[in-house]
Amino acid sequence: MNFSFTEEQEMLRESVRRLMQRHAPRDVLRAHDRDETFPNEVYAAWAEAGLLALPFPEEVGGLGGSVVDLAIVSFELSRVSADLAMAYGGAVFCGLNILRKGSEEQVQRFLPPMMRGETRFAIGISEPDAGSDVGAIKTFARRDEDRFIVNGQKLWMTGGGLPNTIISTYVKTDRDAHYRNAMSLLLIDNDAPGVECRKLEMLGRRCVGTYEVFFRDVAVSENRLIGGLNKGWDCLMAGLQIERAVSAAGSCGAAQAIVDLAASYARERVQFGRPIGEFQAIAHMIADMATEVDAATMLMWRAVWLASEGKDALREITMAKLFSSEVYAKVANMGVQIMGGYGLSAEYDMQRYFRDARSATIAAGTSQTQRNLIAGLMGLKAR
Ligand SMILES: Cc1cc2nc3c(=O)[nH]c(=O)nc-3n(C[C@H](O)[C@H](O)[C@H](O)COP(=O)(O)OP(=O)(O)OC[C@H]3O[C@@H](n4cnc5c(N)ncnc54)[C@H](O)[C@@H]3O)c2cc1C
Repeated sequence: MNFSFTEEQEMLRESVRRLMQRHAPRDVLRAHDRDETFPNEVYAAWAEAGLLALPFPEEVGGLGGSVVDLAIVSFELSRVSADLAMAYGGAVFCGLNILRKGSEEQVQRFLPPMMRGETRFAIGISEPDAGSDVGAIKTFARRDEDRFIVNGQKLWMTGGGLPNTIISTYVKTDRDAHYRNAMSLLLIDNDAPGVECRKLEMLGRRCVGTYEVFFRDVAVSENRLIGGLNKGWDCLMAGLQIERAVSAAGSCGAAQAIVDLAASYARERVQFGRPIGEFQAIAHMIADMATEVDAATMLMWRAVWLASEGKDALREITMAKLFSSEVYAKVANMGVQIMGGYGLSAEYDMQRYFRDARSATIAAGTSQTQRNLIAGLMGLKAR
């Protein structure tokens, strides 16, 4: 058994850390969070450093990185901002889907501009009446000779309205078939005629933003259909394991940052003539936080390693997604408590971590959905 990273992986971790220190210092991030603006300069720095090309094979201009590499990046980006890490995830997850399911022509057309940071991707699955129940989506694409005409609405789309974004849009293309055989995946530019993006007022993740997106008679060329007609469910499922494993890495990275912040605050803050970290109540809270984050991180690395080896790891990945997101939300809550009023003040980052953490047990599948899945894999019918 070997718990260490390779030399290359350590170098990757260090370089992402340094990149974020240089391009996303605390005051810059704080201003973007307050003003709800996206730091384009950080995204450009990721592209420049090759992070957007990391998981793609060299034949298509990528760097040939593994799922472990992706998780290292997600962990390090999320240590600084889980919000920003979502923009990274959206781009690479959709890109990997095109790599897996797209034609040679689609791979050549859509991946290079994304790897150069000129275009981004957003994921359009959820709708007002289709959250956990993905099969209930209603957005419909009608065939019209060599194009589709799309009508409907998507909700909660991370980064959907950012400039130069292509939406990986899951649509129904058959009204009668079972949902597994009725969905298709279309790539739709978010500034195409008939597409309207509205940024939603949300508790957290305010830089990348969460959008509702309306499609009104949007014409989409058939060469933007990925994976074939009525094969959308296969596309969705093909990417889900890596998406959840990497999102678990993000939860662990952000949770680790919370522990570090809480511990350093507890060492400095003096009440009753001594640092609050010397009160057993506080010290034990921090010890519990550190232990739970470590446990989540171990679960996450096992899942990521299995995915990286190409092994079926549905159970392990689902457990890692469930546990790490719950630990993340829990330690964020404890972190605020440890910092008292300062934990809620914009002067410190804890309130941002707390706000950003809350969605971790909801986005990319709720905790209840993960538990249903784990129980189902154990032969239990959880409904
Ligand atoms: C910040 C944020 C970003 C997001 N980004 C994206 C994105 O980029 N693209 C995208 O497509 N979607 C995105 N989502 C949507 C996300 O995937 C959904 O919110 C999630 O799947 C849950 O759907 P819902 O919110 O409609 O809740 P619902 O499905 O209505 O669930 C409500 C509650 O009921 C529970 N529940 C539902 N069904 C069951 C069941 N069978 N058993 C037990 N409990 C159940 C849920 O766990 C939850 O507690 C994002 C969400 C958030 C919060």
